[in-house]
Amino acid sequence: ARHDWAAFKAALDGIRFHDDENYLAARSRDYFWYSPILNDQLKDKLGDLVVVPQSVDEVIRIAGLVARHRVPLTLRGGGTGNYGQCVPLEGGVVMDLTRLDKVIEITSGHVHVEAGARISRLDDAARETGQELLMYPSTRQMATIGGFIAGGSGGIGSLRHGMLRDPGNVTYVKVVTVEPEPKLIELHGEDIQKVQHAYGTNGIVVELGLALTRATDWVHAAALFDGYGEALRFASSAQQQGMDCYLLTAVERRFAPYYSKLGDLFPADRDAIFAMVAPQEMERFTAAAEAAGGRISFAMSKPEIRAAGLQPAYECGWNHTTLQALKVDKGWTYLQVAYPRPFDPDLVLRQMARYGDEIYWHHEMARMDGEIQIFALPLVRYRGEAATYRLIAELEEKDGCTIFNPHVVTIEDGGMKQIDQTQIEFKKLADPYGLMNPGKTRGWSADMARVDDNQMGEHA
Ligand code: FAD
Repeated sequence: ARHDWAAFKAALDGIRFHDDENYLAARSRDYFWYSPILNDQLKDKLGDLVVVPQSVDEVIRIAGLVARHRVPLTLRGGGTGNYGQCVPLEGGVVMDLTRLDKVIEITSGHVHVEAGARISRLDDAARETGQELLMYPSTRQMATIGGFIAGGSGGIGSLRHGMLRDPGNVTYVKVVTVEPEPKLIELHGEDIQKVQHAYGTNGIVVELGLALTRATDWVHAAALFDGYGEALRFASSAQQQGMDCYLLTAVERRFAPYYSKLGDLFPADRDAIFAMVAPQEMERFTAAAEAAGGRISFAMSKPEIRAAGLQPAYECGWNHTTLQALKVDKGWTYLQVAYPRPFDPDLVLRQMARYGDEIYWHHEMARMDGEIQIFALPLVRYRGEAATYRLIAELEEKDGCTIFNPHVVTIEDGGMKQIDQTQIEFKKLADPYGLMNPGKTRGWSADMARVDDNQMGEHA
């Protein structure tokens, strides 16, 4: 579709925007290049205009303009998503929300924050009150809290507090609708699921509330084992015994060359557990690791880690593991695997034997629906699209694993596994013209859009 960009820009009337090509290119991308399949599909997609609202009022003005001009709208936080979630498939306006970054209020057990705040700044602000976030992605430094809610699922801390979507973790969201006269809608309790992990397809989250917990000065530690099975069994039993950890990640020895900063702290002849352990738990953690035939390689506070020039333990796990490997070897891609419950480390050993050098493994201890849940984000040698889909089918059918496919752009095929009817119903309300992040949800079809002109007339 052709749009009257001159008129659109004039109507922005002082709202900050960018339209030079380099800027547009940089803000039309995320980390989709982890997937060669998505890379081919998305690398040339480009927005027409980047807008940078400085306040909720400006967000509302832009939302109204977008609806009146019927242009596609793609929201963007830190741009660290992995599936092209903030790539404007049909061009149009990219809304950069990172200036909407006020930490509005921190009370006991709760923070109220604007959606564009960087997670690191938010967590640091909570720490100043003796509290901390329940969880964050390993991209803590760059990602925004709104992007995490809309595009992420869980991460560091999920071992202790479950996934983002587990009840009570996100307390409310405030959403701006995309229509000629935008409305503000507040969602509480279960209703939050309407926009959680909806990839910015059904409303602009401008504010949200999150539960906080009492801060712990986590010890960043690694334990080394002579065998990946031993490492996994240790992590698994530490979790079952309820050892107080914020992170437990098993990384097999073949990753050692990709963690070169760590040098002898992660040698190529040992498998590692990277962990964030409560200080009062370090003694039990150490004893258990030694009883399992392991030894502690390092145990440092976060300032000590920084001073030593090492990465924090949370940058040794989750999708940072993939990043470390891809920096060195572009022949890798990855998958996201959820293991059947209860977790059986022997299944992993069978998978390692079956795939040999085609797959390098690391595992994340987490919790979901109140139960222990183990995930893996294995590195996979890229052998083309057909081979990727054969592998996915094999892991699902042979091993009973669930694959969250990171090689697709739609919510249903990737993270959610089904068309979420409540999200689609909410889209009818929050994005009646179907302008938000078009192409990202199969559950929405063009004929659902409320395009009749009487309706337009009412508002215009
Ligand atoms: P963006 O990438 O900017 O946006 C993500 C999605 O949210 C897009 O669809 C966007 O349109 C939408 N969106 C953004 N802001 C809003 C808003 N205000 N309202 C509505 N929709 C909005 N994810 C995890 O869950 N756990 C991990 O441990 C993890 N580790 C990662 C490690 C690496 C190295 C990388 C590259 C990615 C990782 N991810 C992980 C994925 C990603 O970092 C997270 O999903 C992150 O939280 C996204 O935040 P962001 O601000 O960068 O969002």
